[in-house]
Amino acid sequence: MLFSQVIGQNHYKQELRELVHTNRISHALLFAAPEGAGALPLAIAFAQYINCEHRSETDSCGVCASCVKYNKLQHPDLHFAFPVVTSTKNPVSDNFISQWREAVLTQPYLNLDMWLETISDDNKQGSIQKEESKEILRKLNLKTYEAEYKVMIVWMAEKMNESCANKLLKILEEPPQKTLFLLVSEHPEELMATIISRTQLVRIPRIDSESMRARLREEFSVNDSDMPTILHTAGGNYLKAVQLLSSEGVNDDFYNYFTQLTRFAYAKNVPELAKLSDTLAANLGREKQKSFIEYCLKMFRENFVLNYKKPEIVYLYKTEKDFSEKFHPFINERNISALTKTMNEAYYHIERNGSAKIIFFDVCLKLVVQLRS
Ligand SMILES: [Zn+2]
Repeated sequence: MLFSQVIGQNHYKQELRELVHTNRISHALLFAAPEGAGALPLAIAFAQYINCEHRSETDSCGVCASCVKYNKLQHPDLHFAFPVVTSTKNPVSDNFISQWREAVLTQPYLNLDMWLETISDDNKQGSIQKEESKEILRKLNLKTYEAEYKVMIVWMAEKMNESCANKLLKILEEPPQKTLFLLVSEHPEELMATIISRTQLVRIPRIDSESMRARLREEFSVNDSDMPTILHTAGGNYLKAVQLLSSEGVNDDFYNYFTQLTRFAYAKNVPELAKLSDTLAANLGREKQKSFIEYCLKMFRENFVLNYKKPEIVYLYKTEKDFSEKFHPFINERNISALTKTMNEAYYHIERNGSAKIIFFDVCLKLVVQLRS
């Protein structure tokens, strides 16, 4: 991963390069960033830059022996630890390393749910267990094979359970020579204070609109009229932008489910609502269920705004616009907060692995009441 492949974040790239140029590389850094902002690609680019044999002022060369291995995430001195499903017999990252490499090379901005869906088919939760801490200590106590720095990237470090985190305190305090810990976290507030105090914090913001716009233009043929909607909805989260732009994103399915949901709910058609809940539970994985709830939230919000006849702040696609022409009077100041609360609660329970069937049916029944108020 080259710095140039990381979207935007120029200020942070420069700060990281400065650490290298001035030889002030701290032995443990905590890359904290919201989802889709690029903490993982930035951490990898930083590690690659440190170990590149012919780095320039601004980037790795991409072609030296070290870079070639880094490009494949297969360098003997580059190690990863990440959440795995805990039901496996020996829950350590090495058992999933080839899937990990493929997942990160395919989408370096991946999130935890995407990753867990890659390695498990039934919505398992993931964590970093104490078995992993033994692996981390073992790997870091090995001698360095070829690189100047041995690097351990701990992705979603907040998913370390307490016994794992405790076992790492000492090595974070006094790491072996030329060892670099890069912790990557979306929720640093969930990390133990004793871990945070042993790291240097690099707080990375959402991607700025200009950089996002440039990347989306280059990668997808987004037309100018859709761009503001995409940028607004993605909110500096590249992964979300990709999901919106892929066939799964500006999603005909979501649109169809949403129109069914609201129509059946308004018609008090409970048998159809029950069927729809089953469909949503069966056809969408947990990640997509969350995206669908976000989609509903967006549709409610934009329809609410439509009542105020401010088209310039409404972000809808063509078909959504047509539907909303008729639908928006049903979303008003009497029900918008209740609807928002319903969807937020559903999101909360889906994220915590509740039964999707029950959660969606509950949403349906609440909508029967709320859409008519
Ligand atoms: Zn290189």
